[in-house]
Amino acid sequence: MPRSQDFNRLPGAMSERPLLMIPGPIEVSPAVLRAFSRPPPGHGQPFVVKAFGDSLSRMREVWRAGEGAQPFMVAGSGTLAMDMAAVNLLDPGDEALLVDTGYFADRMRLVLEHRGVKVHTVVSPPGERPELEEVEAALDACAAKALFATHVDTSTGVLVDPAGLAALARSRGVLSVFDGVCATGAESFEMSEWGADVYFTASQKAMGLPPGLALFVAGARAMEASRTRRTPCPLYLDWNVWLPIMETHEAGSMSYFATPATNLVVAAEVALDEILSDRLDGLEGVDARIERHARTGRAMRAAWAHMGLGVVPASDAHCANTLSAVRYPAGVDASLVGRIVERGVIVAAGLHPAMADRYFRVGHMGYVTTRPDLLRRTIRAVGDALGAGGCAVDTVGAVDAAMKELGSRAVAV
Ligand SMILES: *Cc1c(COP(=O)(O)O)cnc(C)c1O
Repeated sequence: MPRSQDFNRLPGAMSERPLLMIPGPIEVSPAVLRAFSRPPPGHGQPFVVKAFGDSLSRMREVWRAGEGAQPFMVAGSGTLAMDMAAVNLLDPGDEALLVDTGYFADRMRLVLEHRGVKVHTVVSPPGERPELEEVEAALDACAAKALFATHVDTSTGVLVDPAGLAALARSRGVLSVFDGVCATGAESFEMSEWGADVYFTASQKAMGLPPGLALFVAGARAMEASRTRRTPCPLYLDWNVWLPIMETHEAGSMSYFATPATNLVVAAEVALDEILSDRLDGLEGVDARIERHARTGRAMRAAWAHMGLGVVPASDAHCANTLSAVRYPAGVDASLVGRIVERGVIVAAGLHPAMADRYFRVGHMGYVTTRPDLLRRTIRAVGDALGAGGCAVDTVGAVDAAMKELGSRAVAV
């Protein structure tokens, strides 16, 4: 059976519901949807315990985590993972350096300030990212215990250089924490090789799951910091309370602290398997998955360029592949988003407070990267909506430009 028909057979068939192309939640694969859509299993049922443990083991591979690293999977959203990183690593009065590339750095600042942490910031204009030299100077000018950066800022589509930032932090004895919520499983991240200390995400973005899980790996230095911190934190946020739960599950047995999101746990094993079993042009697993997103990112950017639309990231070199932040052309305003939605494709409005009314966002991560037909449908909806708003573009040409990139065998470096 053709894959498109497969997809249409799912609950809420394509003909009845719009395509969800926001930067999370995203369309999930049929296998993930099947795993998730079952009567809620008990957390002690052997297949749930196994899925929990196997998911944690698979996270080690997806994160490229090394010796001494500890994966965690906790019911909650990405913001829970942010809170947990802040309270486990830092005491009130500690200092932190924040690399600010947009909206989610502002959220991290709030989270840190809530903990009583003194936050220093290196900021760049929307669409740009601070140079490593600026971050280095800022690190030397403060007594930060940890550096926080957003791998992909979902408000601007800007990708930072986690390898460079982690190396800088390590050279100064500073912990490095990366918000991978719009990146993990889709953009390159070598936790162990780069010496990053914490990398966290949420289920509803590039992991390819429904919302509801915070997933993160803490390296050995971060685990040590969580043990030596002086100030207690709320019980549910405490890594050390969750640690034995993670350890027993990974060892194959059940233990209870707070009820896991069992449907999601079962689906997580499937989603992580899909990442690790991906194949593309001789690449395998995470490498294939990353290349698939790189190709999709280039394809979508080719379509926007063909339509004469600019993107928010100032340079191709730091453009995320998980979403496009596309500027409205002259004479077009935010009403475009509604016209795209009317054409059956849900996209998101701008989010960066300095320029939210000047661009819109299209998520292209996870399952849709395996479905050129859905990408075509998205590009067509944008092109048609522009036309309906009095800004005619060559939609057919834009689709062709994208498909040419998708078919291209060039591997991004
Ligand atoms: C979505 C997102 C978050 C917040 O995650 P929630 O699940 O909404 O709490 C944090 N950081 C980034 C980069 C995100 O994209």
